[in-house]
Amino acid sequence: MSQNDKVLLKITNLKQYFPVGKKGMYVKANDGISLDIYEGETLGLVGESGCGKSTFGRTLLQLYRQTDGRTMYYGASLDELAPKYVKKTVSHLSKLKNKMNEYQAEYEKAQKEYDEASDDKKLHLHSDLMAKKKTAEDAYLNIVNLVGGFIVADNLAPVEKIYTERYNACAKLSKDIEKYKAAKLDFDELDFEVNKKADNASDKLKTKRSSCRAKADTLAKTVEQDKAEIAKIDSRIEELRNDYKGNAEFEKHEANRDEGIDLARLSYNEVRLIRDQLQYIFQDPYSSLNPRMTVGTLIGEGLMAHKYCKKNNERMQDMVIKTMEECGLAGYFVHRFAHQFSGGQRQRIGIARSLAVNPKFVVCDEAVSALDVSIQSQILNLLQDLKEQKNLTYLFITHDLSVVKYISDRIGVMYLGNLVELATADDIFAAPAHPYTKALLESIPTTDDKKDLVVLEGDIPSPVNPPKGCKFHTRCKYCTEICEHVVPDWEEVSPNHFVACHHKLVKEG
Ligand code: SF4
Repeated sequence: MSQNDKVLLKITNLKQYFPVGKKGMYVKANDGISLDIYEGETLGLVGESGCGKSTFGRTLLQLYRQTDGRTMYYGASLDELAPKYVKKTVSHLSKLKNKMNEYQAEYEKAQKEYDEASDDKKLHLHSDLMAKKKTAEDAYLNIVNLVGGFIVADNLAPVEKIYTERYNACAKLSKDIEKYKAAKLDFDELDFEVNKKADNASDKLKTKRSSCRAKADTLAKTVEQDKAEIAKIDSRIEELRNDYKGNAEFEKHEANRDEGIDLARLSYNEVRLIRDQLQYIFQDPYSSLNPRMTVGTLIGEGLMAHKYCKKNNERMQDMVIKTMEECGLAGYFVHRFAHQFSGGQRQRIGIARSLAVNPKFVVCDEAVSALDVSIQSQILNLLQDLKEQKNLTYLFITHDLSVVKYISDRIGVMYLGNLVELATADDIFAAPAHPYTKALLESIPTTDDKKDLVVLEGDIPSPVNPPKGCKFHTRCKYCTEICEHVVPDWEEVSPNHFVACHHKLVKEG
């Protein structure tokens, strides 16, 4: 990935723990995953079943709320969404800054203790040090994300005041955008009806359409005024910013500033507002479609939920048929039920359902695994074509390495809740650097007689009580003492090739 590629999602230390049985016990399905997903790419995610890939996909979309970590999304405007967490941060800056300093001091103390410890003790102190570092960084990033360099100010009251004012202006903008969208939808529905009736359209209907248009136009102007108001506040903030120009600390914080939306901190209703941009294609085309609904209703449901249309009418049918045709389904199937289709066609319905609402990011969860091999390539080609036409970004989850090689730009390998390797698809196949990746590749059946099929031995350990140090050490033939105690760092071993292993295999090729 080049530096010019735009990041669509930036995931930092994502954790997803599910409570089990006794108090304080958790299944650590995702245990600190950090990863950038670039706009327009297909990122493949592989690993044995139970490694947490599907959980990761669902957590990214906040279908499960994540236990910890940040998931920054850059596909929508933070100002236009105006989530409540922004207000909570900017109106309590002083308190948050104090907390941030406390965490930082704790981390520095732990670092000192670690530096002075004997090698033996270091092994045990390492994870505690990392946890403290992460807490301090999180507290820092939460503030920097919204106010950047102002955290260096001695008196944060004026900063709190102006940023709260800015938040209120954004909240107004967000409400007005919703009102505008509703008015525009009213107009579009009436316009469709008038055009359809052509000469037979009544004057009453035409007058209603005109008044709807006037309402939508007025609201569009209000939205523009709201934006101008925010721009005015921004120029006042710029004046404040000038006071600090040249201050090295200030510049450093400014450089770390981030305009993304932290999906993990959105409320349920806030996530719903951008749900159309973040869609999911399920594995099973049989159970994911309601057998009582026609294809038209199945696809139209999402269109109504996201206010592309108001009711199940002719306009909605037109939209549904257009999407069906894009996904290789004949429009006249619209009144049929899911059970009247083959597996491949059902998966096309599933794809149409997700794509009807114009998403930006789609998680394809084992999207071809339930299909006959002869159909798999058709669906993969369809996904590939749709991606190009609609400029989509995919997270493609699968356990099938040959599928992932075919469709992915980059591949991430997961083991027991962690990412262990990430590189371009070519690099992963040509020079796997993690023993687990290597083992997975060796276990792919091939027609080459000279190549032995190597099966990865041993069971996957329990995610409730995973092994200490490197989680793969119980099955790894390269394991040494350090692997049993110290979690390997996530390092870039060659450009855009990341791996977490104490004894990387890069040189062996
Ligand atoms: Fe194997 Fe050690 Fe690398 Fe883990 S860190 S994969 S145990 S060599």
